[in-house]
Amino acid sequence: MSDYEVVIGLEVHVQLKTESKLFCSCYNLVDKDEPNTHVCPVCMGFVGALPTLNKLAVEHTVKTGLALSGDIAKHSKWDRKSYFYPDLPKAYQISQFDVPLVSNGHLDIVMDDGSAKRIRMNRIHLEEDAAKSTHEGNVSLIDFNRSSIPLMEIVTEPDLRSPEEAELALRELRRIVRYVGVSYADLEKGHLRCDASISLRPRGEDKLYARTEIKNLNSFKMVAKALNFEINRQKMLWDEGNPDQHATTALWDDDKGRTLVMRGKEDAADYRYFPEPDVPEVDIEDEFIEELQKTIPVLPSERLKRYADAGIEVGMSRSLVEDMEVSDFLNKILDECSNDVDSRDQAVKVFLGEISPRLADGIPTDFDFETFVTMIKHMNDGKVSKIKVKEIVIEYMEKKGNLSKLLDAALNASSDIDLDGIVAEVLKNSPKVIEEYKSGKEKAINVLIGQIIGKTGGSVPAGMVVKALKDAVEKM
Ligand SMILES: [Zn+2]
Repeated sequence: MSDYEVVIGLEVHVQLKTESKLFCSCYNLVDKDEPNTHVCPVCMGFVGALPTLNKLAVEHTVKTGLALSGDIAKHSKWDRKSYFYPDLPKAYQISQFDVPLVSNGHLDIVMDDGSAKRIRMNRIHLEEDAAKSTHEGNVSLIDFNRSSIPLMEIVTEPDLRSPEEAELALRELRRIVRYVGVSYADLEKGHLRCDASISLRPRGEDKLYARTEIKNLNSFKMVAKALNFEINRQKMLWDEGNPDQHATTALWDDDKGRTLVMRGKEDAADYRYFPEPDVPEVDIEDEFIEELQKTIPVLPSERLKRYADAGIEVGMSRSLVEDMEVSDFLNKILDECSNDVDSRDQAVKVFLGEISPRLADGIPTDFDFETFVTMIKHMNDGKVSKIKVKEIVIEYMEKKGNLSKLLDAALNASSDIDLDGIVAEVLKNSPKVIEEYKSGKEKAINVLIGQIIGKTGGSVPAGMVVKALKDAVEKM
């Protein structure tokens, strides 16, 4: 691919999490319900039925815009996008054309090497979904449950340069809409659907050539496969000196593993956009934006950068930020040892080894972060052993209880143990080892360390055991 640069932009449709549909009071989120059970004259497109705007859907869109650092329109409006489809009985979709709720903004993606890349956003607008068609033999069925469900369309600039970057961007967008709580964003259920536009250009040029828009990619794998297929197809045409001259719309056929051209790509004029007369325009006040701004959490990309600084491997970091509660938990640990790199590194190890695998069973709401970090410091100072710390954490995570009491008990137990006595007893039974050690084989005594730790029940830190053992041997 050295001769060509890949240019990819995404349009992501996100089904919003609201009680009711975008323009009527019918129930939203109807994945499992019988077809046509959440319908009314508005969402079935009866002539004369009047739509009423769902305020929460607007709020969700503004929130997403704030998370992506976009410009929120103080004044926005609605437009009819005209096209005929059996699952769109009005023959138009209520959408937003020239004044979207959000313009500009950006998305940061964190690459495999931990570096970040900024992807510019074009816009976010709100629109209603169409109904759902299914085809069985000669019969086509239409389910209006999905009709008029609120969809937020997020459009990026063509800043992505590989299928991998496209996948990272889609994953980051999914995390963001989940973090701000506006969508379940489950790809399998169609809550998140992605159209990807792709073109090639000779390296060094900045012109945009005719693109292929691949519609309705509904898994991360599919996005990568479809884009890779298109790269090869378009590269062949370029090599022949015959690149596509006109933009096209294509579907990905997963069984055949190829894109199928559906039609020439429409432009805005084909849709005969005109202002929607039945839905009032929207004015958004500064106070409303300020209140929403306060609810935006630290974004996953910021967290990924923080975890890279803490030495956590990027694959592990990505899985940690998938769940905001898990990531919040780790952040509290990092906050607690912000000025102490040694404690932080050990705390991260214990978190990854013992805590994070157990968070799937429920995240403890009363976890004592301060005591946890105190315990890690004691471990670093040699006052409590690694084995004991592991035991305490496992006991706490599985049976709950009181972290502080468990730590106190461990500290008392290790000070009650007669370490010198145990060392003397082990040495008495190992004359050969002592002989080898004294003849210069320093490593010979390693076999005794395990024995001694076993006899202390693991409650004495390994460092203390080694020191006591060497001291005793030297004195012999
Ligand atoms: Zn309805």
